[in-house]
Amino acid sequence: MISSYSPQQPKDLVVEVPATAPDEVAVAFENARTAQREWSAGPAAARAGALNAMADAVAGAAGELADLVVREVGKPVLEARGEVGRSVAILRYYAQQVFDPIGAVHEPSAQGLLFTSRRPLGVAGLITPWNFPLAIPLWKAAPALAFGNGAVLKPAPESTACALRLAELFAPLLADGLFAVLPGEAETGQAVVAHADVISFTGSGAGGRAVARAAGERGVRVQAEMGGQSPTIVLPDADLGAVAGQIAAAAMGFAGQKCTSTKRVVVVGDAAEFRDTFVAAVEALVVGDPAATETTVGPLISEAARDRVVDVARSAVDAGGRVLTGGGVPDSDGWFVAPTVVESVPSDHVLARDEVFGPICLLQTAPDLDQAIAVANAVPAGLAAAVYTRDLATSLQAAQRLDAGLVKVNAPTTGVDFYLPFGGEKASSLGGREQGKAAQDFYTSTRTITIT
Ligand code: NAD
Repeated sequence: MISSYSPQQPKDLVVEVPATAPDEVAVAFENARTAQREWSAGPAAARAGALNAMADAVAGAAGELADLVVREVGKPVLEARGEVGRSVAILRYYAQQVFDPIGAVHEPSAQGLLFTSRRPLGVAGLITPWNFPLAIPLWKAAPALAFGNGAVLKPAPESTACALRLAELFAPLLADGLFAVLPGEAETGQAVVAHADVISFTGSGAGGRAVARAAGERGVRVQAEMGGQSPTIVLPDADLGAVAGQIAAAAMGFAGQKCTSTKRVVVVGDAAEFRDTFVAAVEALVVGDPAATETTVGPLISEAARDRVVDVARSAVDAGGRVLTGGGVPDSDGWFVAPTVVESVPSDHVLARDEVFGPICLLQTAPDLDQAIAVANAVPAGLAAAVYTRDLATSLQAAQRLDAGLVKVNAPTTGVDFYLPFGGEKASSLGGREQGKAAQDFYTSTRTITIT
């Protein structure tokens, strides 16, 4: 049984449904394949119409969906509303991409016609995390459908209600089975991997690598977008007062539970002034009820996630580090942790190496830009990175040398435009970018056709 509880009110059961058994997963793929054949054979305009109707349905339910995101995963309401708006934009964007060219004509080596043509892959298996419970399923499903595939979604158990609501909204708009939502845990995800014609995963590194291994065994195309450990470098010429607030929000917003959340701040030169300004900015963030518009930091997704942050803060002190603010648990029913800033941990401490998915951030220092980039790059992950400086040459150098799929200059690591390719380097990503125009490559195969 899948039981999803509200993280701010852990007695509030949002939804309880049976987990999808492996034989039910097989049936869902059979149904999706039947529907997909008709879908891909139909006119492009019909697919565009359906995607626009899906966008209308999400827009029409915007308030209710945002409230559900707040309730089920504890996302602060302004961010939840932003996610709904992004979901609508994603659907409309791919509705338009349906009309993009699907190939190119080339000069033949002999007489005749030489051209390429894209075709759908079949039924996509989509495995998603809970932290963007609408946008991530849709930034996978929208291009999969737009380019003629079916889509079977296995959402994270913690965001089951959000995914089921999407399925309800779309049911009158799509042929039966073309878009299916299968609640479940990892076991259901494994069954999805066993049947899909193409697999798109977003989640933890361990989950992504397991899915990629299983897909590789089957010889099926896979992409895995995994965790980050995103650094932000602050140069001495940055306007410290202005940037401290941005970085505090990027580290602690939605309780640090974004793959692009800032996890490390590397200050070049003397950190004293930035340290004080940053700690003050973190302490000024409103922690509390995610339904309140003034809240920046809501709860963590679960008791275990909350306890991990508290344990990591404690272990930082045991390792000789210093907690500059936070580390404690506010008096509340939900899974809250005070936003936490730590400094002076050894380089092998978890905060300097791996993603801790919560409102905890490490302050580091470096004598110059070269060393700062070395510190920023000294982790297995490479999703997002930011640098704050007023110097153009420094910006360009950092943008070239940071190990990250997304580099921001004078902007926070979080927040990415939906119409550009998204993904990381090193251990953060496997198998090609998603979103933007990159999605067409992933959800189609290119055929080279020669006619003489
Ligand atoms: P998770 O890996 O625990 O779960 C993600 C999904 O994978 C869930 O649906 C889960 O049931 C499923 N799953 C887990 N193991 C599986 C397996 N062996 N086979 C098949 N399915 C499996 O991750 P989570 O806790 O839901 O999400 C948080 C993580 O996601 C963080 O690490 C975060 O950085 C990452 N994330 C990455 C991105 C990105 O685009 N790079 C975006 C959002 C979140």
